[in-house]
Amino acid sequence: MSIEANNPNLKSWIKTPENNDFPIQNLPFGIFKTPNLSKRVGVRIGDYVIDLKSLHVLGYLDNTPFKIEDFDTEYLNNLMKKGKNGTRLLRNRISKLLSSNCGDLKNNQHHVDQTFIEASSVEMCMPIKIGDYTDFYSSKEHATNVGTMFRDPNNALLPNWLWIPVGYHGRASSVIPSGVAIHRPKGQTKPDEANPVFGPSKLIDFELEMAFVTYEGKQLGDSISTIEAEDYIFGLCLFNDWSARDIQKWEYVPLGPFLAKNFGSSISCWIVTLDALQPYAVDTPSQEPEVLDYLKFEGKKSYDINLEVYIKPEKSTESKICKSNFKFMYWNMAQQLAHHSVNGCNIKCGDLMGSGTISGPTEDSYGSMLELTWKGSKPIKMNDDTERKFINDFDTVIMKGYSEKDGIRIGFGEVSTKLLPSK
Ligand code: MN
Repeated sequence: MSIEANNPNLKSWIKTPENNDFPIQNLPFGIFKTPNLSKRVGVRIGDYVIDLKSLHVLGYLDNTPFKIEDFDTEYLNNLMKKGKNGTRLLRNRISKLLSSNCGDLKNNQHHVDQTFIEASSVEMCMPIKIGDYTDFYSSKEHATNVGTMFRDPNNALLPNWLWIPVGYHGRASSVIPSGVAIHRPKGQTKPDEANPVFGPSKLIDFELEMAFVTYEGKQLGDSISTIEAEDYIFGLCLFNDWSARDIQKWEYVPLGPFLAKNFGSSISCWIVTLDALQPYAVDTPSQEPEVLDYLKFEGKKSYDINLEVYIKPEKSTESKICKSNFKFMYWNMAQQLAHHSVNGCNIKCGDLMGSGTISGPTEDSYGSMLELTWKGSKPIKMNDDTERKFINDFDTVIMKGYSEKDGIRIGFGEVSTKLLPSK
């Protein structure tokens, strides 16, 4: 099935403001509610959210595999159970209804009033019921920076890094949607030359990541190849993998991160389909040494997505502190998924896979405070002349992301999270 919804020449009868993240070529899915409407599936175009439950009730989604329960629901999982063919058909149908040359919906103002809601008046909710959450460590620049700081600058990457898309199993219960605040976690940290102490973490950091969401995979024991992998990916969101660096430093040997990570990770609320990102597929950075056969892949499997991080202090304007790009990742999503399932591990509908911190080659493209301030040794100057080594209480961390080409911008909106003091 072709992705008609990606046609760059499509125009919509819904006006979208210039530089808006959500033109007709995007059409991301999410879960929203209003004071009058229960949680349900929405699609975003410009400054509007389309209520798919109402669209279905009015008959505009007839002759698709979708039932009303797929839209009158608290999560996108039902819809994702229809697989790539189902969601592609749905996005194509919505695209057709919104395109200028289709009068079906446009010419029925009563139906337009019933299905369109101003985005500013809805509350966005957690889009996915996440089954399992995995976080990778796939940026070579990030792994090199961390290895340089904490181990050996001349031998920064561990021996397995260039052979394995390194990852760990995280915790799904504490993944939260944009807009929900988190509290500074407490835990054990160990001062140099002294016994460990308990108290609020002093080194709270963000990790600039993207995450992908999966369709139902294969059964336990079977593997997903790199050729098949993208058929199992529904879409992507922005992902802030909050980290407590002082807790992490003390706890991570030998089994990896634990309480330094599972106090909260934030995602953006609109899931941009992998279909919508196809025009922005680019080559993956060259991989040396040559990878093992099951990690080999063909075609463009990385994506050109501009990423930005801002810190907004409680009482002043936001400062942009980082500019990176998803295309810098050494291991692509197809390789991550192939590796994840190569031992027969089963991927389920609604699993979330974090990319790992996305750092680029330049100092302003590092995807964490740890790297941007080089362990706190080079504080960042903010617009209001204050300085940051890590994240302060009442700071809001905002991440934005978008692909752009030939005047079309496919954006993710933002993931915005305020850090509150310890409870
Ligand atoms: Mn992470």
